[in-house]
Amino acid sequence: MFKALILSQVEGKTHAEIRRLNVDNLPEGEVLVDIAYSSLNYKDGLAVTGTGKIIRNFPMVPGIDFAGTVAESASDRFKPGDQVILTGWGVGERHWGGFAQKARVKADWLVPMPAGLDAKQAMIIGTAGFTAMLCVMALEESGVTPDSGNLVVTGAAGGVGSVSVLLLSQLGYAVTAVSGRPETQDFLTGLGAKAFISREEMSRPAHPLESQNWAGAVDVVGGNTLARVLAEMQYGGTVAACGLAGGFELNTTVMPFILRNVSLRGVDSVSCPPARRLRAWERLAAAMPPSAYAELGCAIALEEVPQAAKDILAGRIQGRLLVNLN
Ligand code: NDP
Repeated sequence: MFKALILSQVEGKTHAEIRRLNVDNLPEGEVLVDIAYSSLNYKDGLAVTGTGKIIRNFPMVPGIDFAGTVAESASDRFKPGDQVILTGWGVGERHWGGFAQKARVKADWLVPMPAGLDAKQAMIIGTAGFTAMLCVMALEESGVTPDSGNLVVTGAAGGVGSVSVLLLSQLGYAVTAVSGRPETQDFLTGLGAKAFISREEMSRPAHPLESQNWAGAVDVVGGNTLARVLAEMQYGGTVAACGLAGGFELNTTVMPFILRNVSLRGVDSVSCPPARRLRAWERLAAAMPPSAYAELGCAIALEEVPQAAKDILAGRIQGRLLVNLN
């Protein structure tokens, strides 16, 4: 028997409760994993509270990522005792996910734990940190270097934002953090941010072109904020857009693209191809300073997930929240 958070629909509303399950209750898959840690991401907040249509089939175990140890495997690629990571692939959305002590999944969805990382560190990084690395790689591939100029990260005190600030600073970029919470400035300075702009200022409606402030950007907010970031890009700059914490609409003009050669790179972590996944995790293992984990992450129990899900949607979580399933 093992513990799991189960979501069900009661009178059209999403209801979350902890239940004890048997391994036979798990969906089919080649690999059974004993989960050590999961993490709480924005999408988990949407799923657990029933905001947005993240989950369509109930009952469902949410949790879009986890790390743990292989218990049983019908795949040649994994054997009992192997340490593994899973993010994305619809796990915790369409297939039972990480807010449980066990999961059964497809072997293709698993990434072997890179040397230098353990399950706890992997989930302090989690989907948010993995996405941050995909954004960094997108900027690098577009030719943005530390010499190109200043970078801006929006939603900086949240999961993707905070890991982006840390990674980019570690790689030598000068990062300006945009946050709606002035009280997070010490936290963000500790991660390497060199300057700050308020959320309010960065979400003001922009002219088609504004002064050229940024060589690169990581945007988790969307909406007016992304429109302003685009208008403020310097000639040849690139924006890695991965989120919608402030809205999914984008009201902009073609001017930054046709007059300033600006690129808008979309970043998706869910269906990221396996080879790129592995490369991103290996780079995370190398780039994360050991001291950063304690600064970035704080652990909660499975029982605390429903409240934390409300908190992440309200923008009250700083950095990353680990879910301890040991
Ligand atoms: P968090 O809640 O941890 O971070 C989001 C941050 O955005 C908040 O901390 C806050 O930062 C800022 N924010 C929140 N609400 C608003 C608002 N109304 N207007 C402006 N800023 C706001 O979430 P995650 O880091 O887990 O995810 C961030 C976004 O990225 C989400 O939209 C998520 O869906 C998306 N995402 C996409 C992925 C992909 O594969 N494309 C993968 C992972 C996440 P502050 O307080 O500093 O202002």
